[in-house]
Amino acid sequence: MTDSHCHLDSKEFDSDREEVIARALAAGVDTMVAIGTGNGPPDLEAGIRLADRHPAFYATAGVHPHDAVKATLETFKRIEELLRHPKVVAIGEIGLDYHYDFSPREVQRDVFVEQMRIAGDAGKPIVIHTREAWADTIALIRKHWRGSGIMHCFSGGAEEAREALELGFYLSFGGIVTFPKAANIQEAARMAPADRILIETDAPYLAPVPKRGKRNEPSYIVETARKLADLRGETVESIAETTTANFRRLCGIGGSGA
Ligand SMILES: [Zn+2]
Ligand SMILES: [Zn+2]
Repeated sequence: MTDSHCHLDSKEFDSDREEVIARALAAGVDTMVAIGTGNGPPDLEAGIRLADRHPAFYATAGVHPHDAVKATLETFKRIEELLRHPKVVAIGEIGLDYHYDFSPREVQRDVFVEQMRIAGDAGKPIVIHTREAWADTIALIRKHWRGSGIMHCFSGGAEEAREALELGFYLSFGGIVTFPKAANIQEAARMAPADRILIETDAPYLAPVPKRGKRNEPSYIVETARKLADLRGETVESIAETTTANFRRLCGIGGSGA
């Protein structure tokens, strides 16, 4: 199984990171993507540090919308370099977050657009974080992006799903899809074509039912896979296989490893 989005660099794992990774492997999660946004620039290598140490990890590099205000020209140059690292599969997570507004919105938009340019030049997919900013996110993607990517922790309904799919994106379902009140996301999970779905934990955040409220970790992704299997009338094995194949195709990873 592939956890296409986790933050195992987070300090929440400082006391037991290696055990968390061992539990993931034991649960059949043999591939994890370490999102590299960390605490923001100047440190851009939070994901790479994990990927360098562990064969099971790939990484991303990029500036989270929360940290947009910390980005400088130096930051963008460094991201360009890091995208050449053999285990860096995408730029991300990038996008817009109007819920917290930790960075001014116009700065978030500029930094998002600049990172799309970098990803385009590098020929890498983008990992999108969007919260309470769907219309602006889609408008900027339409204007500035030619390529594929991932809607991380997809939390829209069927209509947003259709928009994202039309733009060539993959929908990555996280713990929220297991929540009883997530009827709209569950509908999206039912209608999404098999070749465009991914699963993720976003650990340490958003643990799936029945672990809801706890610290999330990659081994819990099994619960999300089970929910998706139920919704789609498939087996957990088929969800695991499909989502792993989709991840590898999107990121240009060959059958026998990196
Ligand atoms: Zn996010
Ligand atoms: Zn994340």
